[in-house]
Parts: sequence; structure tokens; C-alpha cells
Amino acid sequence: MRASEYFAPTLREIPSEAEIPSHQLLLKAGMVRKAAAGIYTYLPLGYRVLEKIMKIIREEMNKAGGQELLLPIVQPAEIWKESGRWDVYGEEMFRLKDRHGRDFCLGPTHEEIITILVKSEVSSYKHLPLLLYQIQNKYRDEKRPRFGLIRGREFIMKDLYSFDCDEEGMRKSYEKMYQAYVNVFDRCGLNYKIVEADTGAIGGNKSHEFIALADTGEAEIVYCDACDYAANVEVTPCKPTPPKAVESKKYIKKELVYTPDMKSIEEISQFLQIDPQHMIKSLIYVADGELICVLIRGDRQINEIKLKNELGCNNLYLATDEEFFNNNLVKGYVGPIGLEDIKIIADLEIPLMDYAVVGANKEDYHYVGINPKEDISIYEALDLRIVEEGEPCPNCSGILHKTRGIEVGQIFQLGDKYSEALNALYTDEKGENKKILMGCYGIGVSRTMAAIIEQYNDKDGIIWPLSIAPFHVVIIPVSEKDEKMMNAAEKIYEELNNLGLEVMLDDRDERAGVKFKDADLIGYPYRITVGKKTVTDNTVDIKSRLNGEEVTININEVGNYIKSLIKV
Ligand code: ATP
Ligand code: MG
Repeated sequence: MRASEYFAPTLREIPSEAEIPSHQLLLKAGMVRKAAAGIYTYLPLGYRVLEKIMKIIREEMNKAGGQELLLPIVQPAEIWKESGRWDVYGEEMFRLKDRHGRDFCLGPTHEEIITILVKSEVSSYKHLPLLLYQIQNKYRDEKRPRFGLIRGREFIMKDLYSFDCDEEGMRKSYEKMYQAYVNVFDRCGLNYKIVEADTGAIGGNKSHEFIALADTGEAEIVYCDACDYAANVEVTPCKPTPPKAVESKKYIKKELVYTPDMKSIEEISQFLQIDPQHMIKSLIYVADGELICVLIRGDRQINEIKLKNELGCNNLYLATDEEFFNNNLVKGYVGPIGLEDIKIIADLEIPLMDYAVVGANKEDYHYVGINPKEDISIYEALDLRIVEEGEPCPNCSGILHKTRGIEVGQIFQLGDKYSEALNALYTDEKGENKKILMGCYGIGVSRTMAAIIEQYNDKDGIIWPLSIAPFHVVIIPVSEKDEKMMNAAEKIYEELNNLGLEVMLDDRDERAGVKFKDADLIGYPYRITVGKKTVTDNTVDIKSRLNGEEVTININEVGNYIKSLIKV
């Protein structure tokens, strides 16, 4: 490819809307352009990278026995109503109507439509197991589309669905996919951790996420320093610990205290000189329409995923100002004492407290000296908090460490969730009808591209791992006006092309400095500089973008040398 003819509009400035390196560099290096919030066009360079990732995925899916198909993006509402997810998906689902007023959606995921397909085509155990997959756009009207390709509203996903006769088959399919995912992410050069995960709206009972480690990631995970336990914080069980003994005896008697304009834990803690671990946060949630009060220690964080799973509700949110007002609740001063008709759910640590501070349900007042076991009518105590750095491992005596990352893939054992809802049955050897057991397995293809950049970049630009780089090599003739230099560059270009390498010849009428800058920005793994030395003593400089190493070699050796590095 010749840069003079190639559509790769690089930018000099970082676009202001881009907050994290992958978003900035994808725009700057001319790989993507925004069409609308969370919706992107892939330019030729970016699309080449995507295709490489998709090729790796296809190879690994096929190797594991997967068969590729293509499902529709536009899906009829009926199948979603049948599975019960038309309402569960809520605002994240892009919905539309056809000219007859019938409801459709743009597929956020494809469990329903593939289950319907398999149900109507598969009748006997002889047709199972089946592993079917596609690589296609998904549509989710995310609340906060951001970080470029990381959280899009239209994004590319590989989704595979497994169909098995029994538990053992389902587990085998799961193991195959687990290994296939390891292979995919290894080949993409990612540094990642595999963690136990929540099953969310997809459902099922066992799930793992593949998390590419990055400080900019939205996923928080923990891993043990002694065993191989690793989990998303959303599902990490927490051991309840009592707070340390109170230091001052000032507030051990139950009484109302005046706390004017003190609404936050920090303010009250400072005002009363009480450690937040002796305070109780009372959070008012609305769970499928019902108001509940959730209690958690002042120094802890509520885990909404655990709460939602424990309550078994579909819709959970913190009560709005209007809901506070309508229920006579005093914002900033809500507490569990005297709360009528509202169920009180407490974290496991609450009953271990004594002499606690709680809101008094009265403007400007708190109670002190509360003993939760006696003074609060707790409906249920559950593990509802987010694990913290340094807490004990739930599996061994080790210590948990926290880190952040980007979820690039997730796999689920679904069991009969969809075959039950959609009545997908097969007949076994004895002629009996049984439910098909399923698994589903997703990789965020476009998100993976961004995650790789988060791990592979420096101040000059992207550093693509060889396996997914848009081109292997760029050849930079220092001056395209020098005929001898251009001839040498053309010769190398032809030779490398003939060797099957992917080569960009930067023959643009630009200063050498601009070409070098763009080469670093775009992140070609190897850069061959054809300069004065090439004309005078037949040598070129070859520089690795990954480690900056540079060698000078004879022009006749370039082919073999590059080939030995790249091994296509
Ligand atoms: P998240 O928790 O990040 O919203 P999810 O758990 O809803 O993701 P899945 O339903 O498991 O996502 O989808 C499979 C994969 O698709 C995810 O592992 C992720 O890599 C990718 N993905 C999900 N949502 C998006 C999005 N909005 N933009 C880009 N990729 C996404
Ligand atoms: Mg997920």
C-alpha cells in the first residue's frame, strides 16, 4: 500500500472529547471517526486491525468446533416477550416499529433468536452438541456511551452459543470456550485476568469474565496473593468484621443529637468526632416499585449487583427526590428507626455494631448510641458490600488485592434458562423429550481493539503487537524527490510484498519528520528508513516500534531479516 493513495487522515491535536489513550489514539491515528455518541466509522487502518482480531477469533472458534452463521440485527419483539426479556432490557434496548406498527428491536444480544432457530431445526440428541457463532454489530443504548470503542452504542461482538444434551456436555462446551478465549486473548497480546463474574441480564449460574488489565478500565476485580482466586468485585463474597471498639464513651447512650446541615458521613463524622465505621448509611432504594431501606456501615460501599441479586428484582435504583418527598422521607437524615412500612435490609456487618450513629428521620438530627440488634427491626441481614483491598480471600487464608481492567469477554453457563422459556427440546436415546442446555460466550471485538491500545501505547502513539498490526512494516524514503532513494524504497517495497508481508510505503510529499511522527502514531511494528546511507553505502535502518532497537543492514538482506522477525 502507498501512503500517498491511502485514506488515513491523522490528526496533530488530541480531540478534546477523548479522555483515555485508546480513544485519543484511535482518532489521532486515523483509525476511527465518530458518527454519533457511541457510534463509530472504522477507517481503512482501523478496519484492518479489526479484521485481524476477527481472523484470530474465527480461527480459535473454528478450532474449538464452532460453526459461523449470521443472525439478523432486526429482531421481532415476540421472541423477547416469550423469553420475558422485552421488559427486563429496559432503556438499553433500541426499539423500533415497522410500517404496520409491529414492534422490533436492534439486537443487543442474540440468545432468543438463536434458541428459536435451534429449537425448530434440532429435534434429536443426534444433532447435538452444536456450537454456533457470529461476528456482528450489537446495539445497546448505553446510559453513558464513552471512551470511544470501549463503551459504544453500536459495537462489534463475537457471540457463540452452545447447545448440549446434558450438564456434562454443557460443561465441556464451556471448558472448550474458556480455552479458546485464552488462545484469542494470548494471540492478541493482551495482559488479562480471568475472573468469576455476575450473570446479569443474560442469566445462568456460572460465568467468567476476561479482564484486560488497565487503570482506565471500568471493571474492578480482586485476586488472591496466595491461591488462584480472582473475581469481579461485583460477586466477591465479603467476610463481615465488627468495627473496632469505640474510643470515646461520649455517645454510647441512645439519644437524639443536633447535627445541623450535616448530611454526609464525612460531615457528621467530623462534627461528632466519630469514626465512619461506627455510623450507618441508610440508603432508600426502589426495587421493582417497592421502597426499601438498605443499611451499610459508614466506611463501606454498597454493592448494587449483590443487592439486586439478593432481592431478585429486575429494576433497582436509588429513590428520587420526588419519591423522598412523597414518602415523607427527609433527605440526608433518613434512618432505620421509626421508618414505617419500609422493609429494612442490612449488610451482615450491621448487627455486629454497637453504639452506632443513624439518621433520625428528622431534619438536622441523628441518633447516637444505637445498638442495631436491639433498636433496629432488621428484616434480613445479607452480604451487600463491595470488597476492599487487603480483605481476606474467601477461598484460603490469603489476602485480596484490587485492580482495574476492561471486560473484553464473558462466558456463561445458561443451563435451561432460554430452552425453558422458549421450549427448546430434543428427544434423547429413549425417545424422551428433554430441555437443551445452553451456554453463551461473547467477545467485544471493537472493545478488544481499544483495550489493546490501552496496554500498548507511549507518548508518540500506538505500539501494535505484530499479530494485529494494520501493516507489518512501513518504509520511509527520507526524500521522495531523490530518485535513487525512491528506487531503493520501491525495490524493498516490491520484495517485501512478494514475501507476503503487509507493507506501507510512505511515498507522500511530506517532510521526513512528519512521516516518522505518523509512523510512530500509527504504530507499525517495524520502520525501514531509506536515506542518504542507502544511496552511498547500500544500507537501511530498521527500527522496532516495540523496543526501539535499531539495526543498520545491507539493502540485500532486508527481505530475509524482516521475514525472520515477522514469520508470516
Ligand atoms: P459491560 O458490563 O461492560 O456493560 P456486559 O457484561 O453488558 O458489558 P456482555 O453482554 O457480557 O457485556 O457482552 C459481551 C462482550 O461485549 C463484553 O465482554 C464486552 O467486551 C462487549 N461489550 C459489551 N457492551 C459493550 C459496549 N457498550 N461497547 C463495546 N463493547 C461492549
Ligand atoms: Mg459482561
